[in-house]
Amino acid sequence: MAQLLFIIIIVILVADFGLERCLAYLNIKQSGKELPSVLRDIYDPEKYLRQQNYFRTNSRFGMLTSSFSFIVVLIMFAFGGFSWVDGLVQQYIQSPVWTPIIFFGVLYFANDIISIPFEWYDTFVIEQKFGFNKVTPKLFVLDKLKGYGMTLVLGGGILFVIIWIYTLTPTYFWLLAWAVITAFSLFMTMFYSQIIVPLFNKQTPLGEGELRTEIEKFAAKTGFKLDNIFVIDGSKRSTKANAYFSGLGSKKRIVLYDTLMDKMTVQEIVAVLAHEVGHYKHKHTLINFLITMPYTLLLFFAFGFILQSDAFAQALGGTVASFHLNALAFSILYSPISLVLDIAMNVLSRKFEYQADAFAARYGYAPELQSGLKKLTATSLGNLMPHPLYVFFHYSHPTLYQRITKLS
Ligand SMILES: [Zn+2]
Repeated sequence: MAQLLFIIIIVILVADFGLERCLAYLNIKQSGKELPSVLRDIYDPEKYLRQQNYFRTNSRFGMLTSSFSFIVVLIMFAFGGFSWVDGLVQQYIQSPVWTPIIFFGVLYFANDIISIPFEWYDTFVIEQKFGFNKVTPKLFVLDKLKGYGMTLVLGGGILFVIIWIYTLTPTYFWLLAWAVITAFSLFMTMFYSQIIVPLFNKQTPLGEGELRTEIEKFAAKTGFKLDNIFVIDGSKRSTKANAYFSGLGSKKRIVLYDTLMDKMTVQEIVAVLAHEVGHYKHKHTLINFLITMPYTLLLFFAFGFILQSDAFAQALGGTVASFHLNALAFSILYSPISLVLDIAMNVLSRKFEYQADAFAARYGYAPELQSGLKKLTATSLGNLMPHPLYVFFHYSHPTLYQRITKLS
């Protein structure tokens, strides 16, 4: 049984890497194709060359990083690396709760540290070369340290509670753990903007001026409160622009990047905001949350069942069932199912984007949204011709071409 599980794990890892490489290859081939006429005004020939160069640079870099991590993970699984780390941790700590936490902590930090050179190169070489980067080495280090602190407190805390529940009651673990995770994610959905975002960015209420006046006019028509609109200092890290909707109920907010302000006209920003209000009006955050609930229940049910099996630990070179080795084996064996669910969530998310676009169009913002989306893509040197299969697997938003066509 353990032997079979081991083989399945290796097959899944190789198949997943193969699939991702195929999709990336198709995407690169597609990017060189001739543009449809509605997209030709986005880049002038010189800028289009620059975009192609940026896209290819990123694709090559993605190939390098994913191959590197694939090899590391494969070696760890194939040569019992995880049971070796387990043995190392057990030399110092033998506790049903703390051994798994330290085990995952060691893996998290080891993984993070070996990926630092890649992140550094991406930020200070690639993004820098194409004029996007605003991160200083000091900010890079500071962000890393804050990220570690957050993982220690939040990740460590939630892991502690989950494992502790398992030691109390393996039988009802799945139900209780699910309840804890659901409550935690509800809390994070509500308070993410107030607790997490301020650690990294400054959010300020929309200031007086033409933009505020125009937004006020629009907000009055739709009943969206103006004090839920914030401007974030995205320019601290990148020149790329964005906007998003987050939160639930009274904690909802629309966040506009300050980088939008100098790239778009007032009407285009209102159009982007109208799109975000569309997400709110159609209750997309709530629907996403409600869909995730039964899915996580199923996940924990399967997980609770597998936690007691010795074979899962043995597949990674262990001897008897242990929370962390079983969890690790489970995470790989479950990944084909989560791949299918991720695709389903992306299909739904793309549907939501069309709904939000249609909402903006209903208020007469279709032309401004079209030109606004074009500018957003142009300023981030976005890829105009992704491969349909790549879109199907990975895109949470429809392509620019699809959105513009639908808005016409
Ligand atoms: Zn959207």
